[in-house]
Amino acid sequence: MDPVEVGVLALQGDFALHATLLAGLGARVHRVRRIADLAACDALVLPGGESTTLRKLMARSGLDTAIVDFAGAGGPVLGTCAGCILLARALEDSGGVEPLGLLDIVVRRNGYGRQIDSFEAEVESADRRLADAPSLVSFIRAPRILTLGPEVEAWGRAGGEVVAVRQGRIAALTFHPEVTGDPRWHRAWLESAREAAR
Ligand code: GLN
Repeated sequence: MDPVEVGVLALQGDFALHATLLAGLGARVHRVRRIADLAACDALVLPGGESTTLRKLMARSGLDTAIVDFAGAGGPVLGTCAGCILLARALEDSGGVEPLGLLDIVVRRNGYGRQIDSFEAEVESADRRLADAPSLVSFIRAPRILTLGPEVEAWGRAGGEVVAVRQGRIAALTFHPEVTGDPRWHRAWLESAREAAR
């Protein structure tokens, strides 16, 4: 992969694991804590963490509107878990979290309940960059995607349920590929965003 400047929102959550995974793909990684940090980025990852906390910290720094502007200008964004919650158009049980509305999906936070707070599962995708083998990933107090708008592609499924989606250059995963260390989702997102830019 050609060098690419990738930002990772580093306000809270497991941003360090994303940074390690992206560096392994040959990306130059920028930790994004302030609006000015976005200027160096060609693409942005919103990591897992706690969406209520992340949302508050984003508003405090002004990164909420800056990220919407970044995406509006064609910047690719990948959200995982809490990041997926933040990208949604709407949340079923928002708990006060106002999503950014960059992906036409409706999401339920903590969608698997308490009994199975966390589990590992295999995700399957027809994407040629992922189709060679299922992706073993962690679901950690994961959200569930309840509805997909007409422009949204079902990018990955676990047990038949859609757990990964794409809409143009914006992608969301309800799980954590960076925990088990499968780099293919990040790579596929970056490559397809680059192809779309041509
Ligand atoms: N359940 C968390 C939330 O609502 C997300 C968990 C995660 O990102 N691993 O923000």
